[in-house]
Amino acid sequence: MYPLEIHNRGVRLFKHQTEGPFETLRSVSSGLETALFLLGKDGVVLFANETAKTLFGFQEMEGRAILAVTLSHRLEQLVKQATKHASPRSEELSLRTGQDLVVIARAWPNPSAPKQVFLSIRDVTEVRRLERVRQDFVANVSHEIKTPLTLIRAMAEVLVDVEQDDRDLREKYLHQIIGEVDRLSALVDDLLVLSYAEGESVERRPCDLAAIVHDVVLQMTPKAIARGLDLEWAPLNRVMILASSDQIRQVALNLIDNAINYTSSGKVRVEVASVEGSAVLRICDTGIGIPSEDLPRIFERFYRVDKSRSRSSGGTGLGLSIAKHIVEAHGGSLSVTSALHQGSEFVVSLEEQGS
Ligand code: ADP
Repeated sequence: MYPLEIHNRGVRLFKHQTEGPFETLRSVSSGLETALFLLGKDGVVLFANETAKTLFGFQEMEGRAILAVTLSHRLEQLVKQATKHASPRSEELSLRTGQDLVVIARAWPNPSAPKQVFLSIRDVTEVRRLERVRQDFVANVSHEIKTPLTLIRAMAEVLVDVEQDDRDLREKYLHQIIGEVDRLSALVDDLLVLSYAEGESVERRPCDLAAIVHDVVLQMTPKAIARGLDLEWAPLNRVMILASSDQIRQVALNLIDNAINYTSSGKVRVEVASVEGSAVLRICDTGIGIPSEDLPRIFERFYRVDKSRSRSSGGTGLGLSIAKHIVEAHGGSLSVTSALHQGSEFVVSLEEQGS
């Protein structure tokens, strides 16, 4: 109904623009997330909706040239082209409006009034960012798979030709092939966990965070002992949360496994506590620590501070991003503090049930 109304009343509204505001246009465009302008001769703004005013930070736009408002020559050109050819024109372009934006702009002549042009500007910055993240992810996964495959292929080629009695070389390469296959399996496992975590929302039930984490501590104890580390667990009362216990278990596993992998001597301490209505899991190690310049990036997929150390401990570079994704999907937070060569502390905070 609304577009028809604009069209029907358009001539009256736009002819007598000086008589008052463009009420119909204002009403229709007030709920739009897209910025909308109506421009008159020489690209002067006759009307701008609220989104346009917010986007460009002007309250009084009417009477100003579109260039003065947007500081974009490309937008001005788009409007001129639409006016000159009396047909719609679209373009994706970058805008500086206090922040860098990617927008799709479209200009089209007002069918009800010659010499007037509509201009819409849709913010697609987030969409483009997500597309880039997806492309980077595919490129990273391909690289992570290609590297071991190339190695496996090269070692298999050598083994085809190697003398039967060269046992040392055969054994060395066969063990390396097994290691590379294990790495690929771990990568596929983590990709499956990630895709599951990103998929349909999982069923959450009341469960005891302390019990879940205690199980993981028991599971990881042999690994810690093998590395000469103390794995300390502060036994506690129940701390109830509403969660997928499998996913929270995965979070605890990834964080405790990392703490063990990146600690050469000393201890890993695991605590679960109830703090002011939050269920808090704290994992503290006396390990290698994380350089401050890397801290903001360690939750990114495939980001590793030291690639070879991560690989040699069987890391895929996905553990922290999986943990963060799961915790945030549960409405919680995952944070880290670290001091180089002294240790790191990862803290998961979730809403406590019944608090
Ligand atoms: P990875 O499989 O490489 O361990 P993660 O996503 O789990 O991947 O961690 C990303 C990176 O963050 C690791 O490669 C490592 O550089 C750093 N990191 C994670 N946990 C710790 C920790 N407890 N101590 C020091 N560095 C850590």
